Amino acid sequence: MNEKSVKSVVKGFVYLVGAGPGRADLITVRGAEVLKKADCIIYDKLANPALLRFARADAEIIHVPKRTGGASVTQEEINKLLLEKASAGRAVVRLKGGDPCIFGRVAEELAVLIEAGIGFEIVPGITAGIAVAAYAGIILTDREYSSQVVFVTGHEAQGKRDSSIDWHLLAKFSGTIVFYMGVGNMSFIAKRLVENGMDADTPAAVIADATFPTQRVLKAVLGDISQKCRQAEIEPPAIIVIGAAADSNAQLSWFMKKPLFGKNIVVTRDAVGNVDFAAKIISRAGNPLKFATIKIKPLTQTNEFLRTLEKITEYDWIIFTSGNGVTIFFEALQGLGKDARVFGSAKIAAIGGKTAAKLIQFGIKADFVPSVFTGKELGRQLIAYTNLRGKKVLLLRSRLASNELVEILDKAEAEVQDVAVYTAVEQKSDCVWLIEEISNSRIDWLTFASPSSVDGFFEQIRSDLVNSAKVKVASIGPVTSERLKTLGVRIDVTATDHTLDGLLDAIEQTYRR
Ligand code: SAH
Repeated sequence: MNEKSVKSVVKGFVYLVGAGPGRADLITVRGAEVLKKADCIIYDKLANPALLRFARADAEIIHVPKRTGGASVTQEEINKLLLEKASAGRAVVRLKGGDPCIFGRVAEELAVLIEAGIGFEIVPGITAGIAVAAYAGIILTDREYSSQVVFVTGHEAQGKRDSSIDWHLLAKFSGTIVFYMGVGNMSFIAKRLVENGMDADTPAAVIADATFPTQRVLKAVLGDISQKCRQAEIEPPAIIVIGAAADSNAQLSWFMKKPLFGKNIVVTRDAVGNVDFAAKIISRAGNPLKFATIKIKPLTQTNEFLRTLEKITEYDWIIFTSGNGVTIFFEALQGLGKDARVFGSAKIAAIGGKTAAKLIQFGIKADFVPSVFTGKELGRQLIAYTNLRGKKVLLLRSRLASNELVEILDKAEAEVQDVAVYTAVEQKSDCVWLIEEISNSRIDWLTFASPSSVDGFFEQIRSDLVNSAKVKVASIGPVTSERLKTLGVRIDVTATDHTLDGLLDAIEQTYRR
C-alpha cells in the first residue's frame, strides 16, 4: 500500500463534548479526559477557553464562534472542518457550551459524521437551564408547585416561517418553563404567553452569565420582565425561567452570597502559581485576574546543589519551606535517576500544610510541621521540639528566603547549611490594562504571596497609584508585609494562616465584619 491509500483508510473519531454551563470545573470527568487526549479541539463561543488547559501542548485548537445575525463562522463551515480533521485520522473534540444535544445543532454535525462513516461519542454536559437554576437557587421541580419542566428556544432558527412553539400549550403549562436564547426576544415571548392566556402576574426570573462571578439574577413577573431587563441592561447569555419556581426563596441563593462573589482579585505569583491561585478564587465565586510578576528558576544544576545531594545522607534534618522547593528538588532527583531514598534516615520538616502535602506526593511524610506557617515559627518550634545542638540541618529553599530561620537555628547551635534550589526572577507583564483597571476602581484586591512578587509588581506599577486608588492590598504573611511596608504600600489585610487559602480567608473576613 502506498502512503496515500493508507491515509485514505485511516478514519478519525469525534467526541461531541458538553463543556458545561460556564465555569470550567463544571465539565464532566469524561469530558476533561477526552480533552486531554484530543489531537484537535474545535470549540464554541460559549465553551470556557479555560478548559483548553486540559489540551495537549501539541493539540490543534480552533475557535469557531458563531454569532446570531452576522455569523463569523457558519454551521456549514464547522461541519466541513469537523469532517476534514476527522478524515485526516485525528481524534477531534467538538466542544460545545452546556450539553451538546440541547439547542446545540448537534444533529447537523452528527449527520455529516454518519454519512462519512466517522465514529463518534457524545459526552453530555450540564446544560445552562439546569445550572442557572442551581446557581440562582431556583428549584425547577418541586412537588409543591411544579412536576414538569420544559426547555424552549426563545430564538427559533432563522428562516422558519411558522413558529414551531405551541404558545397555546405553553401558556397553559402548569410546570416550569425555561427559555434559552430569549433575551433579545423577551417582550415577544411574554406577549405571546399572555395573549394565549398565561397570567401576567406569573413569576419570572432572568439569570445571565450563570456560574460566573458576573452572574446576575433579575426577578419580576411575566408582565414586566421584559421592561425590567431592558432597564437593567441584561445581556446574553441568559435564561428566562417562568412559573412558580422563579419566585424562589432568597435564602436558597447561595452562590451570589459568597463573600468573594464578583470581586476582582489580582494574583501576582509566577504564571504556574497564578493558575493554581486563580482556581481557588473561582471556587469562592471571585474573579481572578492574572498578572505574573516573577518567574521561578530552578538552581538544581549548580555545583553547590549537586555536591549537597552527594552527601545528603549526612544530615540529621532536612527542611523544605515551600511547595516550589519540594517540586523542584524532586524533579531534579528524578532527572538524576534517583528518588526519595536519598534522604536515608534524615528527618524532614515542612514549613506548612501545603509543603507537607507536596512532600506526600513524592512519598515523604514530614516528621515536623509547625502550627504557624512562617520560617521564624518553624525555627522556634523545631528547636523546642528537638535538640538541634551539633545537628546537621539542611535548608532546601529559595535563594531569596529570609535569614530569620537560619539565625534561630544558629542560635540553637545547629550546623546549618542553606542551599538554594530555586530563585525567582522578575518578569515583565503587560501592565497597561492593570493600571487602567486600578485607576478606574475596577479592581477590588491585589494579593501578594511572597516578597519577590511584591518586588516584581512594584517594579512595574507605582505604589502611589495603588495607595491612592480604591483597591485593597492583601499579604500572605509578615515577611511579605514587611516588603510592602518598605515600599510604602498600604496593607489592608495580612493573613494569619500563611497559605493561599489563608490569604483568601483573610479577605473574606473583611466582608463579614
Ligand atoms: N447547548 C447549550 C445551549 C446553547 S444555546 C446548553 O446546553 O446550555 C445558548 C443559550 O444557552 C444562551 O442564549 C443562554 O440562553 C443559555 N446559556 C448558556 N450559557 C449560559 C450562562 N452561563 N448563563 C445563562 N445562560 C446561558
